[in-house]
Amino acid sequence: DVRNVDVLVVGAGAAGLMCAIAAGQRGRRVLVVDHANKVGKKILMSGGGRCNFTNTGAGPSNYLSANPHFAKSALARYTPADFIALVEKHRIAYHEKELGQLFCDESSKQIVRMLLDECAAAGVTIEVDCPVQRVRKMAHGFSATTTHGEVHAESLVVACGGLSIPSMGASGFGYELARQFGHDVLPTRAGLVPLTLSGKHQDHYQDLAGVALPAVETRVGKQAFRAGLLFTHRGISGPSILQISSYWKPGDDLRIDLAPDQDLGTWLVGQRAARPAAELKTVLADVLPKRLAQRLCEQWFESRPMRQYREAELAGIGAQLGNWPITASGTEGYRTAEVTLGGVDTDGLSSSTMQSKHVPGLYFIGEVVDVTGWLGGYNFQWAWASGQAAGAVV
Ligand code: FAD
Repeated sequence: DVRNVDVLVVGAGAAGLMCAIAAGQRGRRVLVVDHANKVGKKILMSGGGRCNFTNTGAGPSNYLSANPHFAKSALARYTPADFIALVEKHRIAYHEKELGQLFCDESSKQIVRMLLDECAAAGVTIEVDCPVQRVRKMAHGFSATTTHGEVHAESLVVACGGLSIPSMGASGFGYELARQFGHDVLPTRAGLVPLTLSGKHQDHYQDLAGVALPAVETRVGKQAFRAGLLFTHRGISGPSILQISSYWKPGDDLRIDLAPDQDLGTWLVGQRAARPAAELKTVLADVLPKRLAQRLCEQWFESRPMRQYREAELAGIGAQLGNWPITASGTEGYRTAEVTLGGVDTDGLSSSTMQSKHVPGLYFIGEVVDVTGWLGGYNFQWAWASGQAAGAVV
């Protein structure tokens, strides 16, 4: 027995559910299937359980893609304000944490509940524990073989997400479908992910695990992020590192300004006058965590009483702390990455509808597409916007 629907959405995550709601509201018969045992697992675990569901400042410049223009149309037509209106309609309390990042006051479960309520109101059917095994193109529409039987659909929406956190249901199935239908898939790699150190670089800093700096500036090429840094057992993490990790590739020059809000050279010269007998490491502990100040003095500059330094030496120390060349060996990979960079090449997709240029009726939305946001609610905004773009036409 074959079930006929208008729209089959593969993946009941952020993008898939949003698309289903928009299509259902237009009167389309929509079936959403997911191989996981519940919907929206990544939404549930997101934002430390509070879901950073959007960013009020989200715009095309907050995304990485081989085609930086691709995301413009969808982002402009479904904005953070649109999603906030939905959240408010469902009376979900939220707050701005920093830099436009909006989080639920209570729980990310509320966002999943909201999406499920909207799906129910739009007459959308959702089935979990239902892997899609095979898809083929028919003369009209698609036929999908699932563990719950055969489904015929006029439109097929691939919303399978990326490769991050395999334990949460991530699979490469979306990329497989893309290739099957003649789409290029750009090389994928882990993004928004801690960096690892190895060899002597790890030996120098390993015992600093747990040491945190509230604001550093990380830089790769022209890209820079100002946010917190955290030393881990394996390397470095914290928002400034997660952000820059999406721009860093092994071998790239990564620089860290440990005190971006201060001209440390000038400040050190002032300290020399104010506390000539104090040791450098003691003075530096005023602006850096004490253990880090100590470690950097062991590594880089001998710690002597301030009066023994020449002005030029202090300026040099300040400059070095503002431009720390840290040699990362790699990333922690998909196991801990928040997102997957790369994916379905946007060249093969319409930027206004997410429809395939090769196969009419086939759509790709969300993280499976080569559009990846910064940390801070941008990835969900892309999932909502691309889901809505497809949902309006499928
Ligand atoms: P997903 O949400 O990953 O959904 C894909 C769905 O497809 C899954 O349910 C999966 O089970 C299903 N699927 C996969 N393969 C198959 C198959 N073969 N058959 C059937 N179903 C299949 N972004 C933010 O903006 N803010 C945050 O606070 C935030 N926090 C995060 C925290 C963590 C720990 C992680 C890992 C990510 C976080 N992200 C955050 C990123 C965000 O979760 C993703 O970008 C977003 O969920 C992508 O939505 P999607 O619908 O494209 O994919």
